[in-house]
Amino acid sequence: MTSRAVLVTGASRGIGRAVAARFAAGGDRVAIHHRGSGELAERLRAELPGDGHVVVRADLADPEAVRVMVDDAATRLGGLDVLVNNAGVYGERNAPHPVFGASYADWQRRWRQVLETNLTGAANVTWCAAQHMRGRGGRIVNVSSRGAFRGEPEQPAYGASKAGLNALGQSLAVALAPYGIAVATVAPGFVETDMTTEHLAGEGGAAIRAQSPFGRVARPEEIAAAVHWLASAEAEWASGTVVDLNGASYLRT
Ligand code: NAD
Repeated sequence: MTSRAVLVTGASRGIGRAVAARFAAGGDRVAIHHRGSGELAERLRAELPGDGHVVVRADLADPEAVRVMVDDAATRLGGLDVLVNNAGVYGERNAPHPVFGASYADWQRRWRQVLETNLTGAANVTWCAAQHMRGRGGRIVNVSSRGAFRGEPEQPAYGASKAGLNALGQSLAVALAPYGIAVATVAPGFVETDMTTEHLAGEGGAAIRAQSPFGRVARPEEIAAAVHWLASAEAEWASGTVVDLNGASYLRT
């Protein structure tokens, strides 16, 4: 099988790390993107099977840094075949922003912070990556969230950012299909990562696990497996889809 050039954002830990490992295990070359975790990213690069993996850096809230990062990844990997928009931010530690609880200034700040990474950041990475896929085709997989459908009462900007990401994926699936670029999205429920450590360790942890009839939350590898398939050649017909990955904890009707 030929080795593909794969850019995974937020790949130094959590779901992104598992996604990077999955592609590398399949023989692909991975650009491990991080924001401020150079050491973790370098360690992962050294651990990944295969050759040709690189580490790239950018704050996704900075559009110019995004452009430089994506071009850097494409140059060092020899093009781009797959983009996984995984990086995302949930909420500031212990700082939810419900309507009745956040000041108007905090409310605006949180919306700006979350959207500029989860939605505009992903959109900018996508624009830059698509320039490198033009003429050769490609795959784009977005990591959204169950919260896009269920709502996020304490973190409404997060829920809205992921709903926006779902819609972005659908728009681009239509727009980019003529260029041989398929775009799909996964929408996980709770996954065991640093993002959820506090939730899962706290009093609410048992209740969160009980949301699924399997009595647990997801492992990052389970999300990575779906992302890997959606980025495969045979998954072209899944373009435009949003795949629920939540252990039957929530069923859309
Ligand atoms: P995580 O916090 O371990 O990873 C998120 C990564 O995104 C981190 O490496 C972080 O540095 C990076 N990131 C955040 N803001 C950034 C920015 N401005 N610029 C560059 N990088 C930035 O969490 P995770 O659980 O692995 O999350 C990965 C994705 O999965 C996120 O998009 C998240 O919303 C989504 N998700 C997670 C869960 C869950 O329960 N863990 C559930 C549904 C969806």
